[in-house]
Amino acid sequence: MLLNAQKYCIVIHGGAGNINPNNTPNEQQVRRALDTALFIGEKILRNGGTSLDAVEQVVRFLEDCPLFNAGKGAVLTEEGKVELDASIMDGKTLLAGAVAGVTDIKNPISAARAVMEKTSHVMLVREGASAFAKKIGLEIVPNEYFITNESKQRYDKYKNTDKKGTVGCVAIDSYGNLAAGTSTGGMMMKKYGRVGDSPIIGAGTYANNASCAVSCTGHGEYFIRNSVAFHVHALMVYKNYNLNQAVSFVIDSVLTPQGGTGGIIAIDKQGNYTWHFNTQGMYRAMANSEGKKLIELYGK
Ligand code: ASP
Repeated sequence: MLLNAQKYCIVIHGGAGNINPNNTPNEQQVRRALDTALFIGEKILRNGGTSLDAVEQVVRFLEDCPLFNAGKGAVLTEEGKVELDASIMDGKTLLAGAVAGVTDIKNPISAARAVMEKTSHVMLVREGASAFAKKIGLEIVPNEYFITNESKQRYDKYKNTDKKGTVGCVAIDSYGNLAAGTSTGGMMMKKYGRVGDSPIIGAGTYANNASCAVSCTGHGEYFIRNSVAFHVHALMVYKNYNLNQAVSFVIDSVLTPQGGTGGIIAIDKQGNYTWHFNTQGMYRAMANSEGKKLIELYGK
């Protein structure tokens, strides 16, 4: 049953890092892409669709958009290939799905959702994930599909350019259900089958109708070691922090002292949203049923 046909909120990120007006020549393109992503998500939510559908469709769009480090345009591994990670979580059922190290699934976020809905597992990796995706009819592409001229150039003259970002989305729908999803190519030049926080439930992604939905971006090893997404939930549930306090605490008092860089987007069960990062910038956007809409790229 529709509880409140008008009430929803959606927040998106396109990665955090060394982002400032001087090194973002494609600012207009990024803004347009975030705007389109909001449009896709809002349309679903406004029409009574679920937060899970909104999150999946928004992340699919961002995976297909070469401006971000997810799906097409993702960063390259040391071997010059693309290996993708993604996860999604349903705050109502606490079910979750993830894929890691996949090289040929066009939209890893949809594979993650299928793991959640069509298997009794939470995470499938590499060839196993591909075999599953093929079996259920998801689109399979050659690894070259993901590699753009720009990502190749960046790889060829790797200079620690960490400007391209992971993508993520959190949403609450008119039924009061929260959902979160994250998708990434991981860290540039990663090796040995490295997997980051994005596909790890509780690290890069978490959603629970008791508290909030969270999607993270940044230096994944720090986010894994600090269970960042679950940490936000735990502070709210066990310590009665509000959303903003919980997110700020984890970034400012947990990650920053350790040297962990990145950002968080989150929505609570009342539909309040927040974002916070300790990098120069974070591509981010939000819209809600009250008509509020923001698209921001740079520091606070
Ligand atoms: N968190 C991602 C990872 O470590 C990268 C990013 O968000 O930029 O794989």
